[in-house]
Amino acid sequence: MNDKELLETALTYGRHALDWRRKFIGLLPEINKRRLFEKKGCSSIREFAAKFGGVSKEQLELTIKLEERFIPTPELHKQLVTGEVSINKLARVVSIATPENDLELSEIVQNMSQKAVETLVRDEKFTGMRAQTLSLNEEVRGRLVELQEKGIDINELISVALNKREEEIAEEKAQPVGPATSRPVPVKTERLLAKEHGTKCSIPTCKKPSVVIHHTQTFALSHRHDPNYLAPLCKEHHEIAHMINLKVREKRKCL
Ligand SMILES: [Zn+2]
Ligand SMILES: [Zn+2]
Repeated sequence: MNDKELLETALTYGRHALDWRRKFIGLLPEINKRRLFEKKGCSSIREFAAKFGGVSKEQLELTIKLEERFIPTPELHKQLVTGEVSINKLARVVSIATPENDLELSEIVQNMSQKAVETLVRDEKFTGMRAQTLSLNEEVRGRLVELQEKGIDINELISVALNKREEEIAEEKAQPVGPATSRPVPVKTERLLAKEHGTKCSIPTCKKPSVVIHHTQTFALSHRHDPNYLAPLCKEHHEIAHMINLKVREKRKCL
């Protein structure tokens, strides 16, 4: 075997090994319930799992816990017991799984990377949480204190400035947008988006840097870089956005 063949063979075997391992793990809760491990001379499911599949105590315990927890959510349950999805990925969504979102979550875990799933769950859990610390520099702080001492309402002052900023952005976004002349987003539009969203992902709870400007209206159809339909996103939220779009058969990536 040459290097390329050796590497490819190893990767193929590795992939198969992981597939079969997930399937083995998925069967363990039922083997346990029926006490079939006894038929192989094992005193416990733990012994059976370790001996025949090299599954650790921790992985086994997680599997058994997940299987019980997913009883009200049949789609996620099926993904676990058939070994379609790994226990590590399923463990990421267990805290937010309900009979109502069962189908949606099962599609998500099936199609998204583990990191994107983690991000999604974090959003669902921590919606509404905000950082509380302001990093005012000495100069600005000093000027505000001075104004406050003069009896000027600094909250009012800052509100005016914030409203002005919002109006400017709204005004710019209201400009009519013609058909795009190029695939990349024009610098002017990029600047406007930076003015509105800063350098971070535009998903409110996300603190990650944005890495891509996502077209919420498929560019291939709209041929427009309308800032009202553009969203700077981090890598994971971009993946999530396209995952949601997949449902309407939109497969194009923004990059
Ligand atoms: Zn995109
Ligand atoms: Zn994000």
